[in-house]
Amino acid sequence: MTDNAFRLAVMPGDGIGPEVMEAATAVLAVVEKRHDIGFSQHVVNGGARQYRDTGVGMTEEGFADATRADAILFGAMGLPDIRHPDGTEPAPQLDLRFRLGLYAGLRPIRAIPGVPVALASPRAAEIDFALVRESTEGLFASRGKGTLVDDSVATDTMRITRDVTERLSHFSFRLAERRGRRRGRRGVVTLVDKSNVFLSFAFMRKVFFEVAREHPDVSAAQHSVDATALDLIRHPWDFEVLVTENMFGDILSDLGAGLVGGMGFAPSADIGDEHALFQPCHGSAPDIAGKGIANPVAMILSTAMMLDWLGTRHGSESCIEAANEIEAAVDAAFASGSVRSHDIGGQDGTGAVTRAIIDKLVAGARR
Ligand code: ATP
Repeated sequence: MTDNAFRLAVMPGDGIGPEVMEAATAVLAVVEKRHDIGFSQHVVNGGARQYRDTGVGMTEEGFADATRADAILFGAMGLPDIRHPDGTEPAPQLDLRFRLGLYAGLRPIRAIPGVPVALASPRAAEIDFALVRESTEGLFASRGKGTLVDDSVATDTMRITRDVTERLSHFSFRLAERRGRRRGRRGVVTLVDKSNVFLSFAFMRKVFFEVAREHPDVSAAQHSVDATALDLIRHPWDFEVLVTENMFGDILSDLGAGLVGGMGFAPSADIGDEHALFQPCHGSAPDIAGKGIANPVAMILSTAMMLDWLGTRHGSESCIEAANEIEAAVDAAFASGSVRSHDIGGQDGTGAVTRAIIDKLVAGARR
């Protein structure tokens, strides 16, 4: 480890969280050595079991540790039988998003060669888009603030602010610029909303198109959320960058994951201006926890996203290269048929999938 090591807060969490985290840190150790990148890892405990045992899902000390880190690597938190008295669940991942201002929930949806896709069209192999889910407001702003009147009416309120919408839109346009450069074509960002019905979405749309004028190299479009759900099944390969409100993004990102092999293949990043957290889109999957069959790919690809973000932020080409190598190793492992995880009908457990990816990494897989 070098003196100027990146400080990582590692939060394994509940259920399969610690299992997939072990896989991710094994992969990280390989690229750390190969590229002479330094990481100092600080484990921060938290989650549903911690809430059950202590009454808090994450301590203030844990939060401070996460705040000090250069990046947060997060497994999964939450268990179905552990709830607050009002029926909601303790969710440190949501607390972190709100408290650290992690407004841009980046969820790449990409068909990995060799991983079965849900759609029969041969074009499904071309699926490669990014969904940006706003993650600090929208309907989730009402979390913990809903009202119940006389046990007869319950309300939650959606909140859209100019400040966050501007930052979210800039993030999405910059992302499309970068993706466009890589692919040698003009990027396009599509805002997904329900602006024909709700004032909050009409406002979001107005601000989005104002920001679009500052990014003339990228096209801006708008699509209704219902039509988007339809088109994500009819022709998902035509999407490039989708940006949307928190709740819509929560739903559409699971739909997206379903297109390309399921939750085990869906990585994510929650990015703010100062902090970022990287975690698989999946939850703690208690139905398979402890069986050694969880697919670690989503966690491993989230780790690659962390390396890419750290590399871009700190000007480290080694980190960016390491991120590309991990993605290439995942692709190579599945494309060669040398590995098939349980969630896609194979026999390979967490350890076997991790080893197959590390083998390809060591062999120098390139995209
Ligand atoms: P949350 O509400 O926390 O997002 P969830 O209740 O939607 O979680 P998940 O924990 O994501 O549910 O699990 C949904 C389904 O996907 C479960 O059947 C689970 O076993 C499966 N699953 C999730 N992650 C993986 C994985 N890494 N490998 C294999 N199967 C997985």
